[in-house]
Amino acid sequence: MNRDWETVIGLEVHVELATKSKIFCSCSTDYTQDPNTHCCPICMGLPGTLPVLNEQVLDYAVMAGLVLNCKIERNTRFDRKNYFYPDLPKAYQISQLYRPIGHDGYVEIKVSDRIKRIRIREMHMEEDAGKLVHSAIRNETYPDYNRCGVPLLEIVSEPDFRDSKEVSVFLEKIRMLFSYLGIVDFRTQEGSMRADVNLSTRRVGSERLGTRTEMKNINSIAAIVRAIEGESTRQIDLLNSGRPVLQETRHWNDEKRVGYAMRSKENAQDYRYFPDPDLPPVIISDKRIKAAIDSLPEFMDAKEKRFVSEYCLSEYEAAILSSERKYADLFEATISEGISPKVAANWFIEYIYKIIREEKTDNGDTIISASELACLIDYVESKKVNRKDGLLILRQMINGKGPDDVERYIVEKKLIVSSNVEELERIIDQVLVDNKEAVSDYCRGKEKAIGFLVGQVMGKTKGKFSPSTVKDLLLQKLGRK
Ligand code: ADP
Ligand code: MG
Ligand code: ZN
Repeated sequence: MNRDWETVIGLEVHVELATKSKIFCSCSTDYTQDPNTHCCPICMGLPGTLPVLNEQVLDYAVMAGLVLNCKIERNTRFDRKNYFYPDLPKAYQISQLYRPIGHDGYVEIKVSDRIKRIRIREMHMEEDAGKLVHSAIRNETYPDYNRCGVPLLEIVSEPDFRDSKEVSVFLEKIRMLFSYLGIVDFRTQEGSMRADVNLSTRRVGSERLGTRTEMKNINSIAAIVRAIEGESTRQIDLLNSGRPVLQETRHWNDEKRVGYAMRSKENAQDYRYFPDPDLPPVIISDKRIKAAIDSLPEFMDAKEKRFVSEYCLSEYEAAILSSERKYADLFEATISEGISPKVAANWFIEYIYKIIREEKTDNGDTIISASELACLIDYVESKKVNRKDGLLILRQMINGKGPDDVERYIVEKKLIVSSNVEELERIIDQVLVDNKEAVSDYCRGKEKAIGFLVGQVMGKTKGKFSPSTVKDLLLQKLGRK
C-alpha cells in the first residue's frame, strides 16, 4: 500500500475448455500422454489439411459469454495470429481478433463488503500451442505437439483492478462459474487456468493510465497475487526514485519470487492478424443461445440463499454446501433419499469434507452414490450401526472402495447393533459389579483396564454386539462419554 501511487491491473485469463476432442480436429485433448501420440496433420498444421470447428467449443464459449454478461457476437470469425515458435508447427495460431465471440461484459466481485464491477472487454476462442520439453541431460529440446489445438477461452478485462485482492476474488469467481458450468476441469491438469497480468502505476487522483508491464502465463492464483505484489513494489520504487517504468513483457519466477524483463512489448501489428481463410464465419443462431440459456445451472449465490430458505441451514452451512456443484448436488440427492437436511448437512460438514481433505481423493468425479450414502446415514443416525463403524464405511466409499450395497455389507459384517440394548446394559452393569478392581484401576487412570472390561462383556454376550458398541456403552457408564 502506498498513499501517493495507485496500482492499475488488467488481466488476460486463459482457461482450457474441458472438451473431449480438440478445437479443430478429433484428436483427444488429453495431452499428458506419451509425447506426440495425440496429434494429427490438422492440429500440426500440415499443408493441405482443413480445420473444422468443434461445436462443443462453441457451446461452451456461448455459456461462458452469458455468465460473464457479454454480448454474444452473432457472426463470429477466426483469425490467424502469425508468429514463429517451435511449439507451433504451422507458425500461426488460430485465434479471434476482429469478431470475438463475446464482448462488453462484466463480472461483479465482492471485496470488503462492497460490490465492484470488473468490465470484460472481450472473450475469444483459440487453440493452444504445443509444449517444449528441455532435456535435463543433453543440451536439447524436444517438441511435444499433444497440446496443439486444445481449446482455450481467453478473457480480457478492462484495467479495472486496483490490487491483488480484487484480482484473486475475480479469478476465484471465474473458477466457480466455469466449474459450475462444467466447461473447465480445474482439477486434473495444471494450467487449466493461467493469466497474463498487465500492471501499471499512476499518481493517486490521476486519470491517465501509466506505462504498463505484462507478466505472462502465471498459472496459479497464489502466484498471480505474489507477482502483483512484487511488480507493483518494483514500479513504485522506480517511480519514487525518478526513473520511468518501461513497457515490456516480463517473466515472474515464482520460486525465486522475482520478475525479470524478457522483451520490449510487441503489439498486435507484429502478429499480422488476418481472417483465417480456412474457416467460414460462424453464425450463432437464436436457438443455440436459447439452448445455452436453458442449460445454465443455479450458481453458488442463488444456491446458498435457497439452502438457507428451503432447508433452514445456517448461512455458514449453506456457504460450504453450495461452494461446489457436485457436492451440492450430492447433498440434495441425499435429502431426496429421505435424510433430513440438518442431518445431511452435518454429515457433509463434519465428516465428508474432512475425509476428502484427509484422503486427498477429490479427483473431479463424484464417487459416492446418494442412495447408499443415505442408507449409511440412516443406519448410523438410528443407532443401528455404531458411528465409528459407519465412518469407516464412509471413508471407504470416499476412497472409491466402499461396498456397492451398504445394507448388505452391514448385515454381512454383522455391524448391526443388536436392538436389545437393554440386555447389553444389564450385562455391563453386572460386569462392573463383578470386576470392581478393574473399574477402580480404570478410574485411577489405568486406561488398559477398559480392554479387560470390554473382553468380559464380549464373553458374556457371545459376540452379539460389536466391540466398539460395547466400549462406547462401557465408557458412558463409567462417565467418560
Ligand atoms: P495487448 O493486446 O497489446 O496485450 P490491450 O490494450 O489489448 O493490449 O490490453 C491487454 C490487457 O492489458 C487488458 O486486460 C487491459 O485491461 C490491460 N491494460 C492495458 N493498458 C493498461 C495499463 N496502462 N495498465 C494496466 N493494464 C492495462
Ligand atoms: Mg496481451
Ligand atoms: Zn489433431
